[in-house]
Amino acid sequence: MNGAPFTQKSPRGLMQNDAGSPCNGQAGRLAPVIDRNRCEAKGGCVQVCPFGVFEIRLLEPSDRTALSLRGRIKAWAHGNRQAYVVRPDECHACRLCVEACPEAAIRLMPRPAA
Ligand code: SF4
Repeated sequence: MNGAPFTQKSPRGLMQNDAGSPCNGQAGRLAPVIDRNRCEAKGGCVQVCPFGVFEIRLLEPSDRTALSLRGRIKAWAHGNRQAYVVRPDECHACRLCVEACPEAAIRLMPRPAA
């Protein structure tokens, strides 16, 4: 990002910079964490993230095994697909994904120090 000052309101009420991106934070400090028992693969996170942090794909077997009974039923009902964080280094902590998820399945968490 170019670090341009925020100048506009986005449709969701977040500020945008002059480059048109609502993300102006420093990359690499926070990254999204997905609650596997909540995600329904609706894809809002994929659509709103300006940095391609997410993708929707089949649940990893280990993630599926760790689901609650309710989570397994939900996963089955949605084709066993969920959102995955594939580029955590690119997260700029704008929170667009957090606001876009209708299941409240995304939190931003500090990344471990390298
Ligand atoms: S907060 Fe969400 S939408 Fe914004 S850059 Fe990070 S992963 Fe993408």
